[in-house]
Amino acid sequence: MPVTVDKDTCIGCGACVGTCPVSALSLDENGKSQCDESVCVSCFSCVGACPVSAISEK
Ligand code: SF4
Ligand code: SF4
Repeated sequence: MPVTVDKDTCIGCGACVGTCPVSALSLDENGKSQCDESVCVSCFSCVGACPVSAISEK
């Protein structure tokens, strides 16, 4: 997975979901962000978009 989401830090705001150019991000059943690694192109736009820095490059 090109990016890792710290699910304890994620507040489920959804900002990253709207930022991803290839729709690799979605909210899981607990309302936390998840990355579909088969879709992600490692642009890292989501890393800077997260207000609580829950996403990091892997
Ligand atoms: S690194 Fe880019 S392509 Fe991958 S999930 Fe984040 S915004 Fe989407
Ligand atoms: S932008 Fe950050 S806090 Fe908001 S859903 Fe994405 S990972 Fe969670």
